[in-house]
Amino acid sequence: MLIIMKPNATPQQIENVVQHIKQTGLAAHLSQGIETTLIGAIGETHDMSTETFEVLDGVDMVKRITQPFKLASRQFHPENSVFPIDGFKVGGNDIVLIAGPCSVESRSQILETAHAVREAGANALRGGVFKPRTSPYSFQGLGEQGLEHLAEAREQTGMPIVVEIMSQTQLDLMLKYVDVFQVGARNMQNFNLLRALGETRKTVLLKRGLSATIEELLMSAEYILAGGNKQVILCERGIRTFETATRNTTDINAIPVLKNLTHLPVILDPSHATGHADYVSAIARAAIAAGADGLIVEVHPDPARAVSDGKQSLKPEKFAEMVKQVKAIAEVMGRRIAPVGKPLVVGW
Ligand code: PEP
Ligand code: MN
Repeated sequence: MLIIMKPNATPQQIENVVQHIKQTGLAAHLSQGIETTLIGAIGETHDMSTETFEVLDGVDMVKRITQPFKLASRQFHPENSVFPIDGFKVGGNDIVLIAGPCSVESRSQILETAHAVREAGANALRGGVFKPRTSPYSFQGLGEQGLEHLAEAREQTGMPIVVEIMSQTQLDLMLKYVDVFQVGARNMQNFNLLRALGETRKTVLLKRGLSATIEELLMSAEYILAGGNKQVILCERGIRTFETATRNTTDINAIPVLKNLTHLPVILDPSHATGHADYVSAIARAAIAAGADGLIVEVHPDPARAVSDGKQSLKPEKFAEMVKQVKAIAEVMGRRIAPVGKPLVVGW
């Protein structure tokens, strides 16, 4: 850390900061300018708050030189993290496509969707069974029955399943079924949940909070990594802004910024980012052009009748069109969509 003293800081105040640095186990490096004094605090500082020094008399400001998200940072891990998820790899040159309904509604709905998205080129199936709804009176998800339907869909199509977990109390049950745990926007800073997932060795898809900064997203990833679970995928899903024409505003900047700051794979959710099926393909294309490692997209066989997020859900044929467009963009970027195998069971 670099501690910048006020121009009128007294020698006593400078000495006090130096002593403070030494007491925290760091080395102090003094650089006396004509107008101001800079003091470097050298050593392991990622777990220290800048406030430790900001509160001291005579200190003007404190700047970090290394990132506070040490495990997620590219500073100490320059190569991309690439890890396998049943049937494909994420974080490498291949772009992964996760698709499925917002909520699992019935056996037939999830099986029909699973076959359709697989046919169109999806690598993994999404579907919520515990839903974080704004109203407690809205559909809350099918729970374990939904997990059973998803497991059947996985058996039939060969696609791993991505399911949102809302609380660590759901962990034991979900561990039996789920391939990738999704942490939703509303739970990005549920630190107990993040710690519990850090203890598992299953991939976690961590979504950015509604009003979370990029640094806060990375600090949340750090909770999971600190538990020893290295398989974290970050997901931009739009943030809240003053704009009301769309449900959220896609922070497309977040993709190159995250790719620059971290070695973890970064994907985008164009469904929640826009809230309108009409805009999903455009933003999906933009994400791949911006360097995203994948997409998670809501697809429903009958969006008008969906119990949640129908307005932003693509019909399977629209999803298939989107995949073709995304493939073309991927090629321009020197990448490809991760290939898919044949379904294990044809029809259902
Ligand atoms: C979802 O994926 O259905 C969902 C609730 O997403 P988010 O947490 O991004 O709102
Ligand atoms: Mn949804």
